[in-house]
Amino acid sequence: MTTATPRPERINFAVARRCGVACRGCYSFFGKADPAPAPFLRSARVFAGAGIHTATLSGGDPLTLPDLHDWLLGLRAAGMHTIKLDTVGLGLLDSSNRAGLTPATLLAAVDQLAIPLDGWSNASAMLFRRGQADLHEQTLALLATLDARAAPRQLTVNTVVHAGNAGGLHRIAQAIEPLKNLLEWNLFQYTPTDQAKAGANADFALDARAYDDACDDLARRLGAPVLQGSGARINRRSIEGRLGHYLLVNSDGLAWLPDAQGRTLNLGPVFDRELDVLREWADAVSGIGVAA
Ligand code: SF4
Repeated sequence: MTTATPRPERINFAVARRCGVACRGCYSFFGKADPAPAPFLRSARVFAGAGIHTATLSGGDPLTLPDLHDWLLGLRAAGMHTIKLDTVGLGLLDSSNRAGLTPATLLAAVDQLAIPLDGWSNASAMLFRRGQADLHEQTLALLATLDARAAPRQLTVNTVVHAGNAGGLHRIAQAIEPLKNLLEWNLFQYTPTDQAKAGANADFALDARAYDDACDDLARRLGAPVLQGSGARINRRSIEGRLGHYLLVNSDGLAWLPDAQGRTLNLGPVFDRELDVLREWADAVSGIGVAA
């Protein structure tokens, strides 16, 4: 009997180099050059040919890509059947985003739209996400607007669970409870990374026990593993549990993945090396002790 080679569930094109928010614990491995879509879309076609049909577009904030719509159309044409976009969403309400998209045009181009919400007030949101004093209020307004236009189960909320907000997950739950078109609420255990700003890892890190306790406390308070309004799943995404699921590609076309210690494992250029990169990804995943 042969064992199948591990494959990433999805390719995360983390290509946007800019973001209107400045998180101290930002985990992105930013590239140096602004990306042109063509070589990435060629890579996407090769990955689709290798059987990977799910892609995420992220960054940074992809709403800072002036040609975002071309990226999304191109990923679809390349054979990506499921396209997710991760964005803080700033500039989407007033169409001031560089991509010139509205909530309706963006929702029409993606299968899943994921928005981060880490707090229950502007002050608690700013523990992690700096640079926008009213980010929490803006995000709630954005979520309400998106919810009114989204298809059923098209929205996702991502929360970074860290030492500063772990005791308030039920308050975040209250804030997103009214949403009707939520597919899932992901609770990401903060990963100390080598990309974070100085001191951030010490401030935000919480160990597996503290993370589990916070999730257990939330489940007890809610009495169910879902949100009542939408039926959205509440997903625990511990550091260990999400290792070896994604292959990331940054704006310079460098493929990478994080290891269990949050170190950046750089797999080198992806262009014209896609199948080699998949093999190196599988080796790296085996090396960090994960059965993908
Ligand atoms: S919103 Fe995301 S990309 Fe932007 S600074 Fe924060 S972690 Fe980094």
